[in-house]
Amino acid sequence: MYQLKQIPSETQIKKYLRRILFGKNVFCPNCKSRAIIRYENRYRCRKCRIKFTLISHTWLKGMKLPYQKFWVILWCWTTQIPVKQSVALCNLSEEAVRRWYDLFRSHLPINSEILERIVQLDEAYFKRISLLMGKQQGTRKLAYDIFFKKSVDKTNAVNFLEQYVKPRSKLRTDGSMIYLNIHKWWPVRHQKDIHNKWEFELTSEIEGVFGNLKTFIRRMYHHATPEKYHHATPEKMPEIVREFCFRFSSPEMFGNPLNYLEKSLTLVPFD
Ligand SMILES: [Zn+2]
Repeated sequence: MYQLKQIPSETQIKKYLRRILFGKNVFCPNCKSRAIIRYENRYRCRKCRIKFTLISHTWLKGMKLPYQKFWVILWCWTTQIPVKQSVALCNLSEEAVRRWYDLFRSHLPINSEILERIVQLDEAYFKRISLLMGKQQGTRKLAYDIFFKKSVDKTNAVNFLEQYVKPRSKLRTDGSMIYLNIHKWWPVRHQKDIHNKWEFELTSEIEGVFGNLKTFIRRMYHHATPEKYHHATPEKMPEIVREFCFRFSSPEMFGNPLNYLEKSLTLVPFD
């Protein structure tokens, strides 16, 4: 695990950012010219004359924190330090920590997995939210859909298969009616558990994932202020589930702040 004592220096962090964003030589994020004049902490393009900094054309633009403090808050998020603990560690307000966590979460890259071979599919319910999630058996590949309603119906299940499950996969579910004759709607070989007979093996992996998801939500986002959490949940759930799936499927992204930045930080067009 990455250790807090090993926070890189300001200079080292800037070096990391420069390498991630520009490679060997800084270029103009607007016109790509390499005719750059460098000042202390700023750059100017000779060709299109814009001024820029290392982070002015990324989602970190306008950041007021010193790089080392930024690194610590990012470390807290990648290693799943609860919000309240990060507040104490970073000496930031709870609102600020939540804003940073939201920002990090929202810049996870797009993930569009297609599940194949053997797929376990199951539903989970939260307050006013339903979740359909599939796991490719024996792998860390997940796919999911979120619905702002109390239950999932057959149309939702069929849409899920169309989106995320490769034709002719083996589909394993519980005995819910929403999967009845599902193979007539999408070409899968369907096997189902009958839960009231104490058969859980077919969906044990996806049920394990749901257990982890509930722990994750409680640990990361429930801890500080339960009242707030309950209000925030339905709107925040899609993002939180997204974050959870990334942590589950791509644990290497969360090994330390640098891994996350390498995957999520890019130059965006000038506006
Ligand atoms: Zn330029």
